[in-house]
Amino acid sequence: MPGLMQDWPLTLDKVLDHAARWHGDREVVTRLNEGPITRCTYADIHRRAKQFSHALLGHGIAREDRIATLAFNSARHLEAWYGIMGLGAVCHTLNPRLPVEQLAYIVNHAADRLILADALCTPILRQLLPRCPTIERVVLLADEAELPADFPAISYESWIAGRGSDCKWGDFPEDTAAGLCYTSGTTGDPKGVLYSHRSNYLHSLIALMPDVLGISGRDAVLAIVPMFHANAWGLAFAVPAIGAKFVLPGAKLDGASLFDLIETEGVTLSAGVPTVWQGLLQYLEKERKHPATLQRILTGGAACPESLARAYQERHGIEVRHAWGMTEMSPIGTVNVPPDLATPALRQGRVPFGIDMMLTDDAGRAVAHDGRTFGHLKVRGAAVARAYFRREAEDILDADGWFDTGDIATIDEAGALQITDRAKDVIKSGGEWISSIDIENAAVAHPKVALAAVIAIPHAKWGERPLLIVQPKAGEPVTAEELLAFLEGRIARWWMPEAVQFVEAIPLGATGKIDKKRLRAGLATN
Ligand code: ADP
Repeated sequence: MPGLMQDWPLTLDKVLDHAARWHGDREVVTRLNEGPITRCTYADIHRRAKQFSHALLGHGIAREDRIATLAFNSARHLEAWYGIMGLGAVCHTLNPRLPVEQLAYIVNHAADRLILADALCTPILRQLLPRCPTIERVVLLADEAELPADFPAISYESWIAGRGSDCKWGDFPEDTAAGLCYTSGTTGDPKGVLYSHRSNYLHSLIALMPDVLGISGRDAVLAIVPMFHANAWGLAFAVPAIGAKFVLPGAKLDGASLFDLIETEGVTLSAGVPTVWQGLLQYLEKERKHPATLQRILTGGAACPESLARAYQERHGIEVRHAWGMTEMSPIGTVNVPPDLATPALRQGRVPFGIDMMLTDDAGRAVAHDGRTFGHLKVRGAAVARAYFRREAEDILDADGWFDTGDIATIDEAGALQITDRAKDVIKSGGEWISSIDIENAAVAHPKVALAAVIAIPHAKWGERPLLIVQPKAGEPVTAEELLAFLEGRIARWWMPEAVQFVEAIPLGATGKIDKKRLRAGLATN
């Protein structure tokens, strides 16, 4: 017997409708890639997103059509998302930092019909477009006057100008596809995660819970995590839904630029990967500055070194929430909310309502949640992928419906997750596993170390042993002996790196994480 409640499909048009109707004058601030700051409101975003929908309909865009965006965080990018999704078309975010061959693969696999891009990305488009026959039109997220003279594109502003703001949104089932995001191709070809309206809607409610992000309408939220990185971790939906001020930083994510934006816009809450927080911290320390309004930061995407969290918490009084997740999870999985952070090892935290997790051994049997036993981390939830786009025949869930994250982890008695490693990064030494993350965290606590990465090197007796690769802070030389002595007592003796290698710069991948694939390849060619 069905319940007798109203039919209210969980579709994302309702998010922006709500923001415009009930928080219409809240500000959305953008720092354009070119530098200037622009300001508008949720009411403006709503009106212009509707105009954009009209432009799409005029082009013949229909439900299920894929439209790519190649852009950093901005109000125009946000409008485009809602304009696309409101029609039941699919917004496919592309990461401008990916190699062009991968972008071409992704665009062709998705069969995108249009591409919306920042003017800054024109050099990428010049290489990409000749390889992407499905693209019918390029729209640059710019004014007419900013269009490059010799480039076949139209401007977003001229495309939406004069159109009505009455376009009808919604009116489709809540499980309609809304967004498409490919995981980086660290293992084989990139795979498309196809979010639905319902999954993003529910994920927004999860993100807003007090022990997740706990965003309030009084917050000013700076989304450093790009909209092309797993939906900006859901912020593009959660922040308008709660009616908080939204600050979008464009492409400039260095410490000085971020600090400036935090100060001028009174940012209270922000989210980004650990390398971004390292960059801001180095700036704060060098310039002896303090971000006065910033109360809370969310760090995720890679393990947060304890030294980093402590620096923000103890020196600046800023609460650090350490989150774990992945593109396939929309992406939030767990969050460590202080005072859990006081635990000696920096854990990734607990699952919120709406997500479930478990650990298994290699044979798929559940292992104990005792904080010591490593297992394969598996997840379930309404915002977790059940298949990849155009690979629907491949079963990615086990017999009980769990998705294997590819991570190795422990869960303690209190339910706190700790990621040991990605399964492919863990070092197998003499039949035991060594966590590369733990050694990295211990090494970056050294005051002269900017970044540290640990990878496995083959070893005749033990199978594999850890190699520590270090990028020292500028002008602060450090020796291998100094580092090994520093690690003594901080990690198990048999985890001691076999060798230490110094590099000028540790390579970062397209989402700002240490690129271990390149480190391994570099080692092979040495
Ligand atoms: P990719 O890194 O391939 O672009 P994702 O952004 O989806 O794709 O990465 C998800 C993975 O990142 C997780 O499976 C996990 O290995 C790693 N990760 C994310 N957050 C954390 C964290 N807080 N600590 C350790 N690892 C993390």
